[in-house]
Amino acid sequence: MIPAEATTSPDAPALELRSVSKVYPGTPPVVALNSVSLTIQPGEMVAVVGPSGCGKSTMLHMMGTLDRPSNGQVLVDGIPTSELSERRLSAIRGRKLGFVFQRFFLLSGTTALDNVAGGLLYQGVSVTERRDRAADALNRVGLGHRKSHIPSKMSGGERQRVAIARALVHEPTLILADEPTGNLDSKASVAITDLFERLHAEGSTIVVVTHNTEIAARLPRTVRLLDGEIQADEARFHGEPVA
Ligand code: ADP
Ligand code: MG
Repeated sequence: MIPAEATTSPDAPALELRSVSKVYPGTPPVVALNSVSLTIQPGEMVAVVGPSGCGKSTMLHMMGTLDRPSNGQVLVDGIPTSELSERRLSAIRGRKLGFVFQRFFLLSGTTALDNVAGGLLYQGVSVTERRDRAADALNRVGLGHRKSHIPSKMSGGERQRVAIARALVHEPTLILADEPTGNLDSKASVAITDLFERLHAEGSTIVVVTHNTEIAARLPRTVRLLDGEIQADEARFHGEPVA
């Protein structure tokens, strides 16, 4: 089998949507995304905002190859994904993408370390290396002192940090987060946003879907969706308020 990286060019965008549409079947069918084009370069940090139902999660699913577009092409690290088999897609997800959701999807009775190490399963990495890399990822999210704690004994903010460490552990090309602070109080939300900013400063490429306008206002680029279309794509210099 040709490795997924074989077609990667060194200067490829981290992610590209080319005229991506998604229509959910039904009567009438729902056009959740309508010919959306978007390019995200390595090292960018992008907020995706818009009212409920405008297509944010659908777009994130397309970016993450979790679902296939009805039309258009999704390129991850320069690799066109639309025609790939489920097996190749899951290899690309496993190597190149890290996911963070509103719900943490952790195993509640398993230590933080093993939850994070689980992000390296099926990648041909030994148990010892999985645990070493999981420990590094937990250190990066500020949970080095909580490695052997179980999620059911942790706060919401700490659980989300574990989930972020799991998304980071295989050093993905791109981190995709869908309402990562949706279940957190405002203090924990700020802390998680600080963490994403730090990861971005360290070189991670991150897309954050958020309802939280304060979070969006802190990020260097904001994509506004409305009725499945990009209404605005705004860059701002660091710290400059949104008009
Ligand atoms: P957002 O995340 O911005 O709230 P979604 O992407 O979840 O928006 O939804 C966009 C539109 O697509 C909505 O009208 C929603 O009801 C519809 N939709 C989302 N997922 C499905 C699905 N699996 N089947 C049918 N319709 C869906
Ligand atoms: Mg959503």
